Amino acid sequence: MTKKLYIKTYGCQMNVYDSERMAEALEGYEQVQSPDGADMILLNTCHIREKAAEKVYSELGRYKDLKEAKPDLKIGVAGCVAQAEGEEIMRRQPMVDLVVGPQSYHRLPELEARAQAGEKALDTDFPEEDKFEKLKSRPKAQRGPTAFLTVQEGCDKFCAFCVVPYTRGAEVSRPVARVLAEAEDLVSRGVREITLLGQNVNAYHGEDGGETWGLARLIRRLAEIDELKRIRFTTSHPNDMEDDLVAAHGDCDKLMPYLHLPVQSGSDRILKRMNRKHTAASYIELVERIRAARPDLLLSGDFIVGFPEETEEDFQATLDLIERVNYGQAYSFKYSSRPGTPAAERPEVAAAEADDRLQRLQALITRQQRAAQDAMVGREVHVLIEKPGRLPGQMVGKSDHLHAVHVMSDSLAIGDLARVRITDSGPNSLAGTLL
Ligand code: SAM
Ligand code: SF4
Repeated sequence: MTKKLYIKTYGCQMNVYDSERMAEALEGYEQVQSPDGADMILLNTCHIREKAAEKVYSELGRYKDLKEAKPDLKIGVAGCVAQAEGEEIMRRQPMVDLVVGPQSYHRLPELEARAQAGEKALDTDFPEEDKFEKLKSRPKAQRGPTAFLTVQEGCDKFCAFCVVPYTRGAEVSRPVARVLAEAEDLVSRGVREITLLGQNVNAYHGEDGGETWGLARLIRRLAEIDELKRIRFTTSHPNDMEDDLVAAHGDCDKLMPYLHLPVQSGSDRILKRMNRKHTAASYIELVERIRAARPDLLLSGDFIVGFPEETEEDFQATLDLIERVNYGQAYSFKYSSRPGTPAAERPEVAAAEADDRLQRLQALITRQQRAAQDAMVGREVHVLIEKPGRLPGQMVGKSDHLHAVHVMSDSLAIGDLARVRITDSGPNSLAGTLL
């Protein structure tokens, strides 16, 4: 009999992709949308900020009743908390049967069998073998029009605040042929838009018969797949934004005019302490070059406020950079000290001060985001239809600039690339009419 698998995914898009692959690897299970009645619960976790990690423990606490009601329910923890806290998780939550780090997912079937046999199964190695090549090949079922495709993992940058180099390990790129085969396969099953993923995706350097391909070359090759209509990539580091990739924004029609390019701070003093290896000016100059290649580019970013020793003056420099760059979208976080990272040793900014800065920064970003969205009114855009909307006859999809767009139409189907005139801008989405 098919067993029921419930996966809860936290954190970044790379975890969303990994959860898909883990569900596919666990043969004999069907994925369900609720933990009630599940035979196995798997939490795919995030360790990037303290709050993200704590959420895992409180979620596990909630499963106590389920485990009592059904003693052969298996509970597993995957992802970066599993990698960072391994045995500690089993100690804090004895009902956890299985712990698997992000580089060992291909060993999940074996770990599951051990858990079924009553063992506590733990694997947080960084194995030599490549998990993607060992994972079961993907099923052939038809799927929705958008997909993530991880091409690169890990990071060698060691920003002073970040756990990624420790939880995801050293930077590795998947070989070109594997990426192309997976993309072709996704497209044959209905995918029209692929987002290439990596913690440092623009550091991609995939091997192909003795040659090394950068991300721009990979994108241009993917663009040759006829039925693939759109390509995106995330997340990029400013220092890996090579000339060819900048140029691709101007000459590759399928590469969408949206770029997530985190800067973290606008103060050179703080950037140095963060070990970012770029300055505010070099970032602004880079943005100008990308915008020269693609003038309608919508830029997104990440910011950390309250990094150790950040002064009001440093923070003002961040606000100045935001004013100067003008973001269409951004993510901002209060600094969270992560054990084992260099910044964790340094004196912290008072919590109330950091909260106040976060609010001020978010108010500015919200204004810019809203202005970018409102500026779309009256424009003609392409929308890739992803699902029906809440109203009868309404469909929802994403524009080239990644805005959610609602369209009323009886004729549109999921996967259609519709031409739409934008008529309205709401708090989180646009509305338009079909052309
Ligand atoms: N590799 C990407 C880059 O360099 O921009 C981002 C990876 S990280 C998963 C996503 C974002 O989380 C970072 O850009 C940063 O803004 C934020 N972040 C990472 N560590 C953090 C920490 N200790 N406290 C607060 N935010 C953090
Ligand atoms: Fe973390 Fe990104 Fe810095 Fe790597 S480049 S250490 S993933 S913030």
